Amino acid sequence: MAKVGFIGVGNMGGPMTRNLLQAGHEVKAFDLSEEALNFVVQSGAVAVAAPAEAATDVDFVVTMLPVGANVRDAVLEGGVLNAASPGTLMVDSSTIDVDTSRELHDAAQAAGFEMLDAPVSGGTVGADAGTLTFMCGGSTAAFAKARGLLADMGRNIIHCGGPGLGQATKICNNMLAGINSLAVSEAFVMGQQLGLDPKTLYDVISTSTGNSYILSQSCPMPGVLPGSPSSNGFKPGFAAKLMLKDMRLSQAAAQATGVATPLGAAATAAYAAHIEHGHGELDATSIIKQLSSKL
Ligand code: NAD
Repeated sequence: MAKVGFIGVGNMGGPMTRNLLQAGHEVKAFDLSEEALNFVVQSGAVAVAAPAEAATDVDFVVTMLPVGANVRDAVLEGGVLNAASPGTLMVDSSTIDVDTSRELHDAAQAAGFEMLDAPVSGGTVGADAGTLTFMCGGSTAAFAKARGLLADMGRNIIHCGGPGLGQATKICNNMLAGINSLAVSEAFVMGQQLGLDPKTLYDVISTSTGNSYILSQSCPMPGVLPGSPSSNGFKPGFAAKLMLKDMRLSQAAAQATGVATPLGAAATAAYAAHIEHGHGELDATSIIKQLSSKL
């Protein structure tokens, strides 16, 4: 069993930490939020007062923070690389931009450490159930070393290539998820206006060519799937403000690579308007509210 320093124990990091504890690992946790820390302490984690403390005398440091600047703050300014022992592996599971991720890989390497960018897909449901998909970027050795630990939090652990390529994979996935949430919303609002029962529409599309993960697992139309955020006041789940962050990461990547992503651009604009209307804390599937004032 490993010793783990876990930095960022919010909606995702909290249940991921709990799964590590349940698998028998020792976890030292750090978060700026006392409430988030209390949640994992109840499951057996030891709360520490600074990122550097979480990185002391551990085999792995896992970061699960909102944006690149937070990871930079914790790992570089927070003294993680100064406090860690030789052989400690840095694993960043946050979704951040490829450039910051590569900068962190370089900083870790310069300090004598290996790092893996390992963003996840599967949402809070997957984090809870330990069924996340990990998309990993880094050396083969770093991947081999982290694989067992990640398997205690996820089901699909995939090596996508060198430094930053886990993040590149995640950005492609989330651009698609953002577009798809909006697309499914359009179909359901239009269907409702045409007089269809949303559940009937769901039954047909979920077994037809229009099906998708968003539709079948997290349908944006309230009342269709009882356990979904949309049927529970759009409680996240995956917050709309995080979806906008990822859509913007996708558009920055599209610009940097000279690739046209017209659907990505349209969906990014829709999420930006949605957040401007004050819906950033709702689940990302609340984008359906942009299409119908009744929802
Ligand atoms: P969250 O806001 O619930 O949790 C983040 C935690 O980090 C918070 O508890 C916050 O207090 C803490 N934090 C922020 N800055 C910090 C710092 N400098 N030092 C220590 N703690 C700090 O966010 P989340 O939903 O858990 O998402 C985390 C990451 O996972 C994001 O990059 C997100 O895009 C990605 N992600 C989220 C989901 C999801 O469904 N929520 C799914 C896949 C990926």
